[in-house]
Amino acid sequence: MATYDYDLFVIGVGSEGVRAARMSASYGARVATAEAVHMGGTCVNVGCIPKKLYVYGSHYADDFNDASAYGWNAAQPEMNWPVLKSNKDKEIARLNGIYSGLLDNAGVTHFDGRAKLLDAHTIEIGETRVTAEKVLVATGSIPFVQDIPGQAFLSTSDDAFALEQLPERVLVLGGGYIAVEFAGIFAGLGVETTLAYRGPKLLRGFDEDLRDMMGASVLHRGITPRLNATLAEVSRTDEGALLATFDDGESLEVDFILAATGRVPASAGLGLEALGVDMADNGAIKVDESFRTSVSNIYALGDVIDRYQLTPVAIKEAMVFAANAFAGGSQSMNYDLIATAVFCQPNIGVVGLTEQQAIEMDHEVTIFKSTFRPLKHTLTGRDEKSLMKLVVDSTTDRVLGIHMMGAEAGEIIQGFAAAMTAGITKAQLDQTVGIHPTAAEEFVTMREPVA
Ligand code: FAD
Repeated sequence: MATYDYDLFVIGVGSEGVRAARMSASYGARVATAEAVHMGGTCVNVGCIPKKLYVYGSHYADDFNDASAYGWNAAQPEMNWPVLKSNKDKEIARLNGIYSGLLDNAGVTHFDGRAKLLDAHTIEIGETRVTAEKVLVATGSIPFVQDIPGQAFLSTSDDAFALEQLPERVLVLGGGYIAVEFAGIFAGLGVETTLAYRGPKLLRGFDEDLRDMMGASVLHRGITPRLNATLAEVSRTDEGALLATFDDGESLEVDFILAATGRVPASAGLGLEALGVDMADNGAIKVDESFRTSVSNIYALGDVIDRYQLTPVAIKEAMVFAANAFAGGSQSMNYDLIATAVFCQPNIGVVGLTEQQAIEMDHEVTIFKSTFRPLKHTLTGRDEKSLMKLVVDSTTDRVLGIHMMGAEAGEIIQGFAAAMTAGITKAQLDQTVGIHPTAAEEFVTMREPVA
């Protein structure tokens, strides 16, 4: 019988890599990991965490403005970007240390460096070669940047997090959540911000009512939208600015262009093609229910399999993998009812089906909807509305989808996602006593359907 140095080798210490390594070790497996760039992966270093810190940072502009309606007088506040950037960096360095500690404490052996497979059981990290019975590819995804003349002038979200100086004028490309969130961050920090998207409406895949509301909110936040606009070319002007030219011939001068135009699985350079691991055209590794690839001892999960690019999904997949591989489990991942948030301002939180999806799936639906000015803004006069929407199956009374745009929507929807997982009906929402005065109470007090 072949003996290997390790029972499991995990390539990539992102959200799911670290969880898979720790869980597998806790089940008694001998585990090693390799990380090419930074401990904790995208989420910790150039994703969810720094993004949310910058969202908090940008939101203070509103808070300072709103405070005067509540009787607070303050001198005109000023944004000091280097302070925000440096505090963000310190927090991330702290988190990197925590991730290293988690692996140490779990008895996992860690290698710094880029790993690749020499054969199905042999992994090379720089000069080091080790063997493992099972290999888990947890290499995540990387930003996709379109190939146009002047591509080198396009920056990614990784670059945006590394900016040492806050640009005065920014063009954000894309209509997905990362584009929308960064446009909100820059605008909140006082940057002249344009958001260009090749489609007619932002946030494809979200409920149409939310998308419409999002479109209006972009304008209220001082972001200039350029919809149905495709970037054709970028060049540098004599003054050092960037000149972005669109396919309709219009152009725009800015100091920074963020291409938030999607992410692709990071599966190249790992030696997977040579081993015959099946992949989709975009590089997504194909796996079965147990996250096993077409090579039986090689597994993959998280962004590199390109199902949902969300940290909690990657972490859940890792737990299913570890339980099945090393604890005799036979779990499978349930992708239904994955709640998600967009940290634009105000936030969006959603769980379940959109009205359009429910109809396409032949549900007869009853729609409850409420749009209102939040109590806080009755004093501030801020032109900000909240939207709450319920999609209910008319036949079974089951709640199929809950959608919200408003302050703390992510926090609010998390609780309702648990209720939906438990199969809540509209009648049960109606039986629930609200908490007054909150925005969330709307979800348990909507009585009259709108459709
Ligand atoms: P990653 O976290 O990307 O980890 C993969 C790791 O593998 C990386 O550290 C990489 O360096 C390493 N690696 C790659 N190749 C090799 C190799 N050959 N050898 C060794 N190491 C290697 N999700 C949310 O749920 N909520 C959010 O608010 C959110 N915001 C986001 C904001 C931004 C700007 C971005 C970019 C992403 C955001 N995400 C968010 C998505 C989330 O970050 C990812 O879904 C999640 O990090 C995926 O985890 P992963 O472990 O699959 O990959």
